Amino acid sequence: MRYFLIAGNWKMNTTPAEATTLASTIADGYAKLQPNRNIHVLMCPPATSIHAAHEVVKSAQGISIGAQNCHQEPKGAFTGELAPQMVKAVGCTHVIIGHSERRQHFGETDELLNNKLKAVINTGLVPIYCVGETLEERQTNKTFDVIQTQMATALADITLESASQLVIAYEPVWAIGTGLAATSDQAQEVHAFIRGLLAERYGALAGSILILYGGSLKPDNADEILSKPDVNGGLIGGAALQADSFLAIIAAAMKVQ
Ligand code: PEP
Repeated sequence: MRYFLIAGNWKMNTTPAEATTLASTIADGYAKLQPNRNIHVLMCPPATSIHAAHEVVKSAQGISIGAQNCHQEPKGAFTGELAPQMVKAVGCTHVIIGHSERRQHFGETDELLNNKLKAVINTGLVPIYCVGETLEERQTNKTFDVIQTQMATALADITLESASQLVIAYEPVWAIGTGLAATSDQAQEVHAFIRGLLAERYGALAGSILILYGGSLKPDNADEILSKPDVNGGLIGGAALQADSFLAIIAAAMKVQ
């Protein structure tokens, strides 16, 4: 039976009250799907809704809460930021690191993300490290070079032991929020490439590192994309804000198992 991580990135959506409703609807629907141990569901609300969502799922089986970002330092004069320890203390088990929106709008570099990854892992949290090429990079055949650089710089000094905590998300920037997902073959090709890079660095452990696909993953393309051998789950934006569509993607993962 294959293991899948199905993660929702709620971005800057939901008040705490809305998060409670969405998390409850997803948790209730998920319980009805008869979950097994090989599917794990993650919801990543905005920071102010983490507590509300965690209250809903804290005793649910196979569902946990993640943060969308955190700072690399444990504390200090960083107005507006949250330390890994802080998001852990409010119930997060995972943190999304290096989402393309953070790279694009907040200037996050691979060097910075390397520090964030280390801080997150050292705090005992699981980072979901996002990589992916822009449309222009794909059209000029730079996809593999871009991914290689994003992986090499951000994973520098991350030891084999730490890497067992790592999750990678392949999110082609041109597919995020556009409705135009990668084809399953495009996803598989890049996932296999990422797995190869992980194998060069971490040997046999690469086979068990989860590589999620993200970018317009929806109920109608989830079966096909999740059925590819190097796709170990999804990072889902828009469709994670509708309980029905998020649950349908979870159901697709169960079918593929
Ligand atoms: C994302 O933001 O990580 C994402 C994949 O968004 P969407 O599913 O809306 O493309």
